[in-house]
Amino acid sequence: MRIVLLGAPGAGKGTQALLICQAKKIPHISTGDMMRQAVARASALGSRVKGYLDRGELVPDDVVIEVIKDRLSADDCRNGFLLDGFPRTVEQSKRLDTLLSGMKLELTHAVNLMVPREVLLQRIMSRGASGSGRTDDKGDVALHRLTVFLEQTAPAIELYKGRKIYFEIEGLGSVDEVHQRVLTALE
Ligand code: AMP
Repeated sequence: MRIVLLGAPGAGKGTQALLICQAKKIPHISTGDMMRQAVARASALGSRVKGYLDRGELVPDDVVIEVIKDRLSADDCRNGFLLDGFPRTVEQSKRLDTLLSGMKLELTHAVNLMVPREVLLQRIMSRGASGSGRTDDKGDVALHRLTVFLEQTAPAIELYKGRKIYFEIEGLGSVDEVHQRVLTALE
C-alpha cells in the first residue's frame, strides 16, 4: 500500500499514522518528524528549515521534495509506505505523482481525516497549553499553522477528491474508532 494521510493540524494524523503503519507493516514517513530531527541534529537541512518550523510556515517545496525523493528511494519503501504531512501544497502533490510515476508506482489510497474546524481549534489550543513538546504547538504559531493549512494544503487535498483512491474518514470519536474506520477504507 502506498498511502497519503491528509488532514488539518489537530486532526489526529500522527496517532492514526502510527496505527496504520503497525497494522500494514509499512514505514511511516513524516516530513514533520524528518524536519524536526534535522533541526535537532543541527544538520545543514536543519539550519535551512528551522525558521520555517518556528514560525509555523511551510518549508519551501524544493526542499521537502528533495527529502521525500531521497526517502522514497530507500529499500524499506519497496513494499509500500505511508506519507504523513506530505503533500502540503498543490505543487508537492503534482511532484509526488511525477516522482512516483518515474518509479512506475502509484498511490493506492489518499485518506483524509475530517474534523470540524471548532474541534481542531479546541485541540490545537489544548495541545499548546499541555505542552506537546513541540515549539510550534504554542498559541499563535499553532493557529497560524491552521491558517497555512486552509490556504495552502486544503487546495492540495482538493486534487485528490474525485480520484478512486480518495477516502474521507470521520475523525471524531476514540482513537480506536477512527482507526477501525480507516482500516475499513483500506480493505
Ligand atoms: P508536521 O509535524 O507535519 O505538522 O510538520 C511540522 C512543520 O514541518 C510544518 O509546520 C512545516 O514547517 C514543516 N513541514 C512538514 N511537512 C512539510 C511539507 N510537506 N511541506 C512544507 N513544510 C513541511
